[in-house]
Amino acid sequence: MNQHCANTVSTEAGTIRSVNRTGSSSNSPWGERVIPIDLPEGLHARPAGRLVALLIALEVDVRVRNLATGAGPVSARSLTSLATLGVLRGQAIHVTARGRDAVAALAAIEALAARGFDEAPSPPIQTHSQKNQLEPPGEAIVGQAAARGVAVAPARRVHRRATGRKRDVGAPDHEAGILRSAIAAVGDELRLTRDVLAAQAGAVHAEILDTQIMVLSDEALSTPAFLALSAAGVSAETAWADVTGAVATRYRALPDAYQRARASDIEEIGRLVIARIAGAAQSPTLWGAGVLIADDLGPAETAALDLTLIRGIATARGGPTSHTAILARALGIPAVVGLGPAVMTTVEGTQVLLDGDAGTLTIDPHPAIIAARSGDKSVPDPSSVEEHPSTPGLDLEVGANIGLAIEMKGFRASGADSIGLLRSEMLFLGHSTTPTVEDHHRAYTEVCVGANGRRVTIRTLDSGADKPLPFLPEPPSANTALGVRGLRRSLLEPELLHTQVRAILRVAAKHPVRIMFPMISTVGEWRRAADIVEREIDALGWNDRRPNGLEIGVMVEVPAAAICAEAFASEVDFFSIGTNDLAQYVMAADRTNPATSPLADALHPAVLRLIGEVCGAADAEQCSVGVCGEIAGDPLALPILVGLGVDSLSVSPSLVGEVKRLAGRIDLDAARVLAGEAVGLASAEEVREHAARFLARRSEHV
Ligand code: PEP
Ligand code: MG
Repeated sequence: MNQHCANTVSTEAGTIRSVNRTGSSSNSPWGERVIPIDLPEGLHARPAGRLVALLIALEVDVRVRNLATGAGPVSARSLTSLATLGVLRGQAIHVTARGRDAVAALAAIEALAARGFDEAPSPPIQTHSQKNQLEPPGEAIVGQAAARGVAVAPARRVHRRATGRKRDVGAPDHEAGILRSAIAAVGDELRLTRDVLAAQAGAVHAEILDTQIMVLSDEALSTPAFLALSAAGVSAETAWADVTGAVATRYRALPDAYQRARASDIEEIGRLVIARIAGAAQSPTLWGAGVLIADDLGPAETAALDLTLIRGIATARGGPTSHTAILARALGIPAVVGLGPAVMTTVEGTQVLLDGDAGTLTIDPHPAIIAARSGDKSVPDPSSVEEHPSTPGLDLEVGANIGLAIEMKGFRASGADSIGLLRSEMLFLGHSTTPTVEDHHRAYTEVCVGANGRRVTIRTLDSGADKPLPFLPEPPSANTALGVRGLRRSLLEPELLHTQVRAILRVAAKHPVRIMFPMISTVGEWRRAADIVEREIDALGWNDRRPNGLEIGVMVEVPAAAICAEAFASEVDFFSIGTNDLAQYVMAADRTNPATSPLADALHPAVLRLIGEVCGAADAEQCSVGVCGEIAGDPLALPILVGLGVDSLSVSPSLVGEVKRLAGRIDLDAARVLAGEAVGLASAEEVREHAARFLARRSEHV
């Protein structure tokens, strides 16, 4: 049966008559569509990647053509081929699908396009021409403001370790094997960097690396590279360099500036694999703390930078939408990009003033300019940040979520009341062997000393799914989010938990500490874990002299634990609701998949009702209940969570001040009414609109 439906679409090439047909021939279903592209930067790598991801599980051959230019058709399984079609906003693509799942594939592609390819609206970027009217400092090199803030520090050139180790070219099969394992190793490293970045800057920013991971395995690179290797005498490095160089050149020829800028992402993929073959470290290194000066940086390089050394970033190339700029903003590092080749003549160690607001880099600035700009309030000096006073009116503790030791600097500046979530697994991401009691002890002591008397809630290793640990392989599972992860993994090898708990207890003897178990589903799991703590306490001979404040509690991330909160409440000291996972499981929406993560919104009434249940159960037993998922830092969520009965929040250190200020303006009775209304609404969108109106009314009254 054939279905025909014709309509017209306007493209830059003129108005065309489009086809919208499906049918079958020779038992093979087929179909075609014309799909207009309404994305500000056109069909660039990230949305193209989402299209590729849609097709992974489908049995279908999909081809795409740029209707305006005639470019293509290319396979929709190749991100690179799609992105280099150069489809701009207002143009349309012609999609053909053939195979068992043709109809489903076309419907999914149409739906993706209708959702704007799941692109988040980008925040307004301040360009040089829109910038503040500050006096231009003398002899400043002018670039584009990419991330706010000012840094005065020595210039530090990026040193990439030599990648030219000489080796003899082997037989074609041997070279192909070398290339294959280098690609796999770079993929592993990018995934690890992505996880670290997700913890530092949020999952949205880490998505940049997902695109790089997809590019790495793109058939548009691998097919010609392995083909080239079938000829004798070609090295793996040459084949990969030629292919990535050619694709970068294709990007550079695209009409859109944003799409052209993606050439440097491909070049990075080229560099990483070649460096890996040469056995060289891929991370750029600096010779000391200062303002990093580079021609350009790829996303993986930026994410892998040693943040303790970086006071600012200045690049010769790139624009405010380059990944370097996006990541610098996410990490709170002042940055100026597009400074031109002149910046590359800066001598290592020269004092520079980088102004991320004005978009300038001044080499060897006059002391008067330094004095003027250093007084700028956009330079957050941690030592000068005054402690935020306790929130008036609301008895709300605002803690910080910490995953990496480097984040302690932000914690000290934040004014947080506590560390509400120490993601212990993040401290051991780089370990290839299981941490010993001493390793655990050293890591937690460092954090507790930094917390300076404020309570630290240490979550036991939450490994697996989105947080794989190299030393703790997960048992194979088709769906790792539902697999042996979190506490399940620790209980599989109880000695793991004994070791970690032993170290935490030693720290607890000197510092205020709570122990928290992740991914609890049943009371039985909680009891087994609590029993391990009791046995370790017995081994210490503490009897009734256990340290004051040592509490043991559970994360509520699994709907079963929330629904049965009453059964836990009489036994645990506290609950901490992990809304990131709770929303994922309540909404059956993978939090790591861009196509489904928007659905995992913790402000959905279904999730809010469960939070309300937990608060009710906790209240009856007088045990405390906090929220440590990302939603805790969302201003729209704050009055609702407090109104439901949550008595502490733990958020990214950079959000603590804002959350405290907002909490100070919220009246508990009004918040309770709001929460009661929110759980009765039908969708997360309705809840968000309702909370936004509530906050708008509050600000009118303040
Ligand atoms: C959560 O799930 O909300 C949480 C805080 O834990 P993580 O994000 O580390 O899984
Ligand atoms: Mg979690």
